[in-house]
Amino acid sequence: MPRAVLADLTTAELEALFKSWGYNPANAVRVMRNYYRCRELPGSLPKGLIERLHRDFQPGTTSLAKRQVAEDGTIKLLLSLHDSRTVETVLMPDYRQDRAAGCLSTQVGCALGCDFCATGKSGFERNLTAGEMIEQYLALRREAATLKRRLQSVVFMGMGEPLLNLDAVLAAIRRLTDDSLDVLGCRQIMVSTVGIVPGIEALYDTGLPIMLAISLHAPDDEERAKLLPLAKRYPIADILAAADRFQARNRRTINIQYCLLKGVNDSPEHARRLAELVRGRRMHVNILRYSPTGPGASGAVYAPSDPAVERLFLAELSAQGVVAHPRRQRGTDIGAACGQLRSATAFQRGAQG
Ligand code: SF4
Repeated sequence: MPRAVLADLTTAELEALFKSWGYNPANAVRVMRNYYRCRELPGSLPKGLIERLHRDFQPGTTSLAKRQVAEDGTIKLLLSLHDSRTVETVLMPDYRQDRAAGCLSTQVGCALGCDFCATGKSGFERNLTAGEMIEQYLALRREAATLKRRLQSVVFMGMGEPLLNLDAVLAAIRRLTDDSLDVLGCRQIMVSTVGIVPGIEALYDTGLPIMLAISLHAPDDEERAKLLPLAKRYPIADILAAADRFQARNRRTINIQYCLLKGVNDSPEHARRLAELVRGRRMHVNILRYSPTGPGASGAVYAPSDPAVERLFLAELSAQGVVAHPRRQRGTDIGAACGQLRSATAFQRGAQG
């Protein structure tokens, strides 16, 4: 039985544990604060408690397998999990000198098989635990600290579909937003989904005022289903209706993610139809630039749209009254799209083995 890690516990659970060991439960907040800041125990704890924590807990279950730094400062970490599986997590320095944003994975691999996605090609292996998501956060926080930056926000958007591992994602969010620890606020957290309608409803039910992003990638169900097999199950109208309810409750603008694929979804007509969906809603569109991942399961090979086409697409959205921005391209020289470092590493291992 591996020793526990503090990332697996809430502060309340640690308080209860300390009480059961005969120590003041108030020590739990100090231990957790230090853990989230520097992963070390406060020196002023009772000696017996320090010994007990060292005996029953290990610092972490993940270890760094690979680290890549892009020219633009984006840092991608490949973390090895306790069962030797690997998962990616990414730090993106902000334009402000003192801040950075993190991208956390929620599953090892992904079952949804989006045709243009490197993670989708690897299939699903397992859900990550909340503790494993917290460990990604802590690894990114350490990276940010070495750059003298504060990890200011996180998005659950890396490998996997967060709403298919919702209990663990919610547990991680609740730990990161624990008021007594002063780590992050709900407004600094975004969950990104390809549109799992029951998951959006469940997120709504929590009442958590977090941000929501929805990956649309096509303006109608038929075209979308060619890119995202899940689209056959959840029509765009249902996804947007669920997003509207979420938005009405927590008052946060919804992000619509749209990855431009050359000759596939990037015409002015696509932009007009996308505008029809979004106009009048509290939503804005992020235009993503595609990072090639090789042929999809359908055999299609995708390419990023030409910059001129992207500008036309954005201009058309703007002319239609939709707020849209190109999302700054990050870490292109290290394969910034989710799953690329992991699949490249697996490929290298396969080639070596
Ligand atoms: S894009 Fe997201 S949901 Fe689709 S296969 Fe990749 S990781 Fe899964």
